[in-house]
Amino acid sequence: MVSAGLDTDVAVIGSGFGGSVTALRLTEKGYRVTVLEAGCRWDPGSLPATNWNLRRYLWAPRLGLRGFQRLTLVKNIFVLSGAAVGGGSIVYANTLYEPLDAYWSDPHWAHLSDWRSEYTTYYDQAKRMLGVAEVPFTTPSDDVLRGVADDLGVPETFHPTDVGVWFGQPGVRTGDPYFGGRGPDRVGCIRCGGCMTGCRFDAKNTLDRNYLFLAEQAGAEVAAERTVVDVLPRCGGGWRIVHERSGAWIRRDRRETSAEQVVFAAGTLGTQKLLFTLRDRGRLPRLSPALGSLTRTNSEAIVGATARRVPDTSTVEDAAPRGSGHTGTTGEARGYAAGVAITSSIHPDEHTHIEVVRYGEGSNAMGLLATSMVDGGGRIPRALRFAITILRRPVAFLRSLQVRRWSERSVILLVMQSFDNSLRMIRKRGLFGHRLTTRPGHGEQNPRWIPVANQAARVAARRIDGDAVGSVFEATINVPTTAHLIGGCPIGGSPESGVIDPYHRVHGHPNLHVCDGSAITANLGVNPALTITAMTERAMALWPNRGDEDPRPAPGSLYRRLDPIAPRAPVVPSHAPAALRWDACRTEAAGRTRTSNPSDDPQG
Ligand SMILES: Cc1cc2nc3c(=O)[nH]c(=O)nc-3n(C[C@H](O)[C@H](O)[C@H](O)COP(=O)(O)OP(=O)(O)OC[C@H]3O[C@@H](n4cnc5c(N)ncnc54)[C@H](O)[C@@H]3O)c2cc1C
Ligand code: SF4
Repeated sequence: MVSAGLDTDVAVIGSGFGGSVTALRLTEKGYRVTVLEAGCRWDPGSLPATNWNLRRYLWAPRLGLRGFQRLTLVKNIFVLSGAAVGGGSIVYANTLYEPLDAYWSDPHWAHLSDWRSEYTTYYDQAKRMLGVAEVPFTTPSDDVLRGVADDLGVPETFHPTDVGVWFGQPGVRTGDPYFGGRGPDRVGCIRCGGCMTGCRFDAKNTLDRNYLFLAEQAGAEVAAERTVVDVLPRCGGGWRIVHERSGAWIRRDRRETSAEQVVFAAGTLGTQKLLFTLRDRGRLPRLSPALGSLTRTNSEAIVGATARRVPDTSTVEDAAPRGSGHTGTTGEARGYAAGVAITSSIHPDEHTHIEVVRYGEGSNAMGLLATSMVDGGGRIPRALRFAITILRRPVAFLRSLQVRRWSERSVILLVMQSFDNSLRMIRKRGLFGHRLTTRPGHGEQNPRWIPVANQAARVAARRIDGDAVGSVFEATINVPTTAHLIGGCPIGGSPESGVIDPYHRVHGHPNLHVCDGSAITANLGVNPALTITAMTERAMALWPNRGDEDPRPAPGSLYRRLDPIAPRAPVVPSHAPAALRWDACRTEAAGRTRTSNPSDDPQG
């Protein structure tokens, strides 16, 4: 330990899923934790009513936009991510699934351990902490997705999503249902569909309502609007973390925090950007050459269908009433905007997963990024195909420009696959300084279109009497969109094969750690947040309590499976549904894994 004279024991860069879990679990183990977060702090009252309020929705602080949705074009991918206290959880669509089967057997990491059995208990813990529940109602969009499943010949694969939302009594405030009274009140979801513009009704279980909330209560410090710009080794041990006011052109208010250990949890883009910068400045001479490899888009496409008018069927129906006796609510949105952000899934094949997504009523700004759908592949350039599509169907194209009541008229389809394709992220000097860019990576080429995705969108369009739509970047410059960029700091047994070891320590720099989406080593085929949470639960469970001997093998040694180490001062009382425990038993239900302990479902 070199902690004497240091500002903190552990500095955590970023407060998303990886950062928030780290903050809570290390605070419970007696470490002094400081979280440095680039984004702003939000509460239900300060969130924007719709995403037309660009100043409070988009994150581009140098342009005066201080919201929470970050949009980044990285050469051949358009990336959506979050920036806020609570990271991507503020903007995300609440969906929390375990990965498809192929993830566990991916050759890049399957030889290191029997990961599925090792992770079981950490997924269970993550679900309890995030308050995962199955969506208890169906919406008009679900009827459309069910129809798509029928037409694709996979009706049996339709199922409601698992989401981190408190359903309870719609609109009714209740005492903390998860953490034995140590957590905040929750309000029952009113099904307004607005989750991706932040929940103004306090029903969404964002990280500032669970992990981060509890960490701060227990003494972790969270500094908002502080962007980390450098990390330097400190004379006498530890690190100097340099940070400044996010987005400042002048009066940057540059400061330093010294720490013994640093956890990079700045999200896939943020962590890679920092590590590349530090490498090029010579700060991390032993950093693995694998940095940037196995960067993946989750093999994703975002397509959809937009109807000409808002459908008449505008209310949601309770699929399985859970004691509230509720059918239909006051705050419920109209048309396809009704429900929570994602309400159901289908699986056209074992590698492909489609979810139905929506924005809330009035949040039509993202409709500006949608246009007539165009297939890819073949020898004809995508842009030329797009031009031909416009000429063939000019009225449909003009309709795609019309965003009035877009969210109520649109069924968005999020398509993810578990194939082994990837990009390699690199850092290059450009006209305006250094920037991240990509080149083809290991495995198959990253898909620029997914045929079954376009097929599903066309079926949906037919069913709602509308037009199939895709992203404007796909149609014009052949660039796919992803909200799930992962990888780039893969796990490997050695620095040749990975940036971090299986305990999430950076190879060559064992007091640095990576705990966020960049550590995901294979395509998941599902949304990544639950996996990031479970991975970080595991990584933190293997840290010793402060001052105790470290049971993890010395850096560079062979991987050894270890038992989790209980914290000296757990925050959640042992009788609470989300209490820390590693012995949950499970049952297989309908091909998906579920926790079986009744206390796991406080909403039941
Ligand atoms: C619109 C949308 C919907 C989504 N829906 C879902 C969903 O339903 N389910 C799901 O599983 N996933 C979803 N995702 C993806 C999910 O949000 C991310 O996978 C997840 O948040 C990644 O977690 P993380 O720990 O890697 O980091 P993040 O949650 O991305 O957090 C990283 C944090 O680090 C901060 N940061 C970055 N650089 C610095 C720096 N230099 N200094 C200080 N702080 C920094 C950022 O501001 C950010 O707050 C969605 C994403 C978007 C954009
Ligand atoms: S549907 Fe509305 S109330 Fe429910 S979680 Fe989403 S934003 Fe909150």
